[in-house]
Amino acid sequence: LYVETPLEAGARVNLDAAQANYLGNVMRLKEGDRLLVFDGMSGEWLAEIAEAGKKRMTLSVTEPTRPQEAAPDLWLAFAPVKKGRVDWLVEKAVELGVARLLPVVTQRTIVDKLNLDRMRAHIIEAAEQCGRTALADIDEPVRLDAFLKQRDTGRTLYFADETGGEQAAVTFKAGPALILTGPEGGFTSEEAATIRSARNTTAVSLGPRILRAETAALAAVAAWMSAAGDWR
Ligand code: SAM
Repeated sequence: LYVETPLEAGARVNLDAAQANYLGNVMRLKEGDRLLVFDGMSGEWLAEIAEAGKKRMTLSVTEPTRPQEAAPDLWLAFAPVKKGRVDWLVEKAVELGVARLLPVVTQRTIVDKLNLDRMRAHIIEAAEQCGRTALADIDEPVRLDAFLKQRDTGRTLYFADETGGEQAAVTFKAGPALILTGPEGGFTSEEAATIRSARNTTAVSLGPRILRAETAALAAVAAWMSAAGDWR
């Protein structure tokens, strides 16, 4: 369970009504029961339900169970796609270990606003489900030109380009990485040329088929994780 309280031995955590309801009425936990909690910064801890009320619950934190993850240094920049699909993209990126999500608005991006609170709720849910101890960050959407201008060129940019690029599995290298995928309508040829000419940027192919934007993002992250990330 994700909690906002910084975790340490003996800490008391007052859950909000939604969390108390979930643990008490859905999971049917009661006083004395134990569960795993994380705060996104200090690893995973064992906690015990100290008080359980109708709309409130207090946990008492006992001991650490897992250290804070060393999330692979992979960021994913993506042109937001339609609502249900972008939620899916964010959830899968968290499960696969992405550390930071950067929405990028391109000429053909249909959806240029994102409800970041909804995205952050998906990030928390996905982290709880897959057992991460860190929450992926998500930035405000920026336009492509601003994204290219402000990016740190010490971080290799892998441009997922369906018109051709190097073979992903042999191109992805360990180290700070940033994957960029386009919107439903793809990048314009001018955008693609600008991205390809940016410093420390490699165009990578994800095979001969045209993948949906969210599929491409997921495939690129998985390929990078397998080649350069933390998959044992
Ligand atoms: N230009 C595509 C078309 O002709 O239908 C539309 C773009 S595709 C739906 C969305 C994005 O996924 C692309 O901009 C690219 O970033 C990525 N993508 C899709 N297939 C890919 C592939 N085979 N290799 C690399 N990237 C791909």
